[in-house]
Amino acid sequence: MKIAILPGDGIGREIVTEAVKVLKALDLSFEMEFADVGGVAYAAHGHPLPDATLKLAKQADAVLFGAVGDFQYDNLERHLRPEQAILGLRKELGLFANFRPAICYEQLTHASSLKPELVAGLDILIIRELTGDIYFGQPRGRRTASDGHFPGADEAFDTMRYARPEIERIAHVAFQAAQKRGKKLLSVDKANVLETFQFWRDVMNEVHKQYPDVTLEHMYVDNAAMQLVKAPKNIDVLVTGNMFGDILSDEAAMLTGSIGMLPSASLNAKNQGLYEPSHGSAPDIAGKGIANPLATILSAAMMLRYSLGKPEAADRIERAVKKVLASGLRTADIYSEGTRKVGTVE
Ligand code: ATP
Ligand code: MG
Repeated sequence: MKIAILPGDGIGREIVTEAVKVLKALDLSFEMEFADVGGVAYAAHGHPLPDATLKLAKQADAVLFGAVGDFQYDNLERHLRPEQAILGLRKELGLFANFRPAICYEQLTHASSLKPELVAGLDILIIRELTGDIYFGQPRGRRTASDGHFPGADEAFDTMRYARPEIERIAHVAFQAAQKRGKKLLSVDKANVLETFQFWRDVMNEVHKQYPDVTLEHMYVDNAAMQLVKAPKNIDVLVTGNMFGDILSDEAAMLTGSIGMLPSASLNAKNQGLYEPSHGSAPDIAGKGIANPLATILSAAMMLRYSLGKPEAADRIERAVKKVLASGLRTADIYSEGTRKVGTVE
């Protein structure tokens, strides 16, 4: 098995170095190959996603990705900016399923936006469809009254669209994830108003027949947004489309305390995946040795679970993270009175 390691820019290098140490400590005999991505790749090879990096990512069973982006590249043409690397990887690898767990660790309940009793023990998995919906539907555009074709029109428009196979494949991924957890799936839509999401609901119900051991519930997105802050612990696995998922996963992130703790995974049909922290390259703290590496270490755990067939090793990492938190060690972003701050520079 081969892992492509793409540290990228800013704190990417620091946090990936820590995750690699953890992977090595597991002694699982994976091959790890490093490559440049993002701004550092542009600086060295003239492109944020060089051919060699893309080739490596395609060959590998999984990609461990740090972060990309830095102020110094802000003025480049759009297609050369570091952020294009992640969009290119998603597209080229066909990563259609985005997994974002929102876990509130016992010791960090005070850092949540909600009251501790609402989030103690919180463990939600949000699955967002990543390659369809209004982000990619055609036609889209803008037209003005003066172009003559549409008298009176001065407008912009996007198209919300899902094709059956796109819903089916994310449904299968979600039901299978629910089978591995609490056997309960919440599908979030807007079936009362949108044809696209009435179709989504119909297809979810059809696919459900193949997973009779999982309980499927449907909820409108406005209600789901409310339930996430009212009674988040009632949710186990939540599946939704690209746009609702974008919004709800950020909302859920705020329940957990720090962005420095949140991993993510993006998977394709072959269970190949790209694993990265939910946060960015944090140029404001790069090079100071104070970045929280736990989001990346937990992303490596997801990689072991979903792409590399090593769930026990994933459990070991997750237990170790809990143990470190229980011991009182903290990076600055999760530090509180009575704990001990760590980092290479303090
Ligand atoms: P992107 O657009 O790439 O998502 P962003 O501008 O949204 O990036 P981040 O890079 O995620 O922002 O950083 C947001 C804030 O969170 C910054 O102040 C940053 O220092 C902090 N931050 C992000 N990741 C970590 C981390 N691992 N440890 C500590 N602080 C972090
Ligand atoms: Mg951001």
